[in-house]
Amino acid sequence: MSELAERFETHDPGEKLVAEKIRCDACPVMCYIADGRTGACDRYGNVGGRIVRMDPLTILDHAAETGAAIVPFVAEGEAWDGELVNTGRRFVTAIGAGTTYPDYKPAPFIVSQEVEGVDLVTVVTEGIFSYCGVKVKIDTDRHIGPETAIVRSQGEAIGHVTTGEYGSQMLSLGGVHHLTGGSKAEGRATCDALLNLCNRKPVELAIDGGATITVEAGKPPVIDGKQEHRMRVGCGSATIGMFATQWRGLVDEVVVVDDHITGVVSEHQAGKVLGWQDTGIKIIGRRSTPGRYFKVSEPGLGWGGTSISDPLSILGEWNAKKGARPGLSLLMVSTTGEQFAYYELDDELKPVQKPFPERLQKSVGLIEDNCEPALCTVLFIGGAGGSLRAGVTENPVNLTRSVQGLTTYVTVGGAPVYVWPGGGITLMVDVTRVPEGAFGYVPTPALVAPIEFTLRRDDYIRLGGYEAEIRSVDDIVAKGGEYFNSRRGTGAAVSNPWPPLAQLRRAASNETG
Ligand code: SF4
Repeated sequence: MSELAERFETHDPGEKLVAEKIRCDACPVMCYIADGRTGACDRYGNVGGRIVRMDPLTILDHAAETGAAIVPFVAEGEAWDGELVNTGRRFVTAIGAGTTYPDYKPAPFIVSQEVEGVDLVTVVTEGIFSYCGVKVKIDTDRHIGPETAIVRSQGEAIGHVTTGEYGSQMLSLGGVHHLTGGSKAEGRATCDALLNLCNRKPVELAIDGGATITVEAGKPPVIDGKQEHRMRVGCGSATIGMFATQWRGLVDEVVVVDDHITGVVSEHQAGKVLGWQDTGIKIIGRRSTPGRYFKVSEPGLGWGGTSISDPLSILGEWNAKKGARPGLSLLMVSTTGEQFAYYELDDELKPVQKPFPERLQKSVGLIEDNCEPALCTVLFIGGAGGSLRAGVTENPVNLTRSVQGLTTYVTVGGAPVYVWPGGGITLMVDVTRVPEGAFGYVPTPALVAPIEFTLRRDDYIRLGGYEAEIRSVDDIVAKGGEYFNSRRGTGAAVSNPWPPLAQLRRAASNETG
């Protein structure tokens, strides 16, 4: 049983109230926590008779932009190290802020900051996302499983294989149906996998009728125990187009083996333009257009995402009337350049493998050089619901309209997000841009993610914001908040813009545009 599953087992919301225990009301589970212990999610504890958020509130320093922690933890009541706070480019994230739950109360921190003469407000809260999941992009040509196949973690269904993209396979994991719509075990396994993926930890996923993959954000995928190194340079047809000139004069025929489109240089438009001679080659597959073939094999873990290990298996009889002759040379290569072989036709017009010639090494190496490193990308996707929005404004729909109207800039742990057009606030964020360990969970089950809304102070007041709750960064650094936790400073990632400035610039371009 996973550590998370044990926590689900041992913390029951119906647990009998014991006198010395106090109740945490930061989520619907309502744990009763004894002194010196933490609640089911480990995020809140009973410290000396009061509920304390156990992780520090994280404040990013955008002046340093080192991406690394630069100031140690500041214990509650201790003075802040002044070095960091004087940069003037701080951002109070929602990491460690606490939640707005139950809905009626304002967000834990509503921070004012003046930037280039404009008063801005950032509303900071840890959102509880029942509607959430991750989209995973796995850079590989290899067949990992059929589209719509179930993806499992700890034996439970937690998502499915979705539409593949160019050079990558895609998974859609989590979502409310797996989190809360199935068995308890399914919900726990889903929550566990999502939490680990969002916190950039490796997770093993098994696909029904397909591969077992270890996915870790920002790292190469490991497919059936084998680490992927490169994503393909392009489909077989594109590879022919890119490298046809390199092969001209060095070899009589080139076949780029690919599960999507296998390319044949002598027939391909690129080869025709360069004056390539016919070779009488025959590809077993569905011809799309000249020199481009679909379905030369079933998808798999072999050459170019096909199931083949012997590339000759996709060739038919060579035709002497159309140019085949003894001694004709043939290069077969995969779309990543990882597999390649060289053949010459014998007197019977049968290809015979020969030592790979030096003259072709460079072109095969060029394919490899043009392949980008294969990585796993994990995007957290979540919908900002009622309690979260109510913590920002007394009239929650105003926040939705403000986000959709680009008046409010949304970040997750200071990282920029993509907000889906249409109704509601459905956002996506690359988890590698969010500070490590920013995601948590509650056993309902749901994920907890930091979320910040930055907008002009006058706009905030206009949409019904909690004006009386607005505080300065200095005040928050010095005094903290209702959950008595410490504050810590850390360098912001270089790739993330300082949210107050990003908001200001966006608002300016919105006005002029
Ligand atoms: S699960 Fe965590 S947030 Fe929810 S009541 Fe228990 S300690 Fe508080």
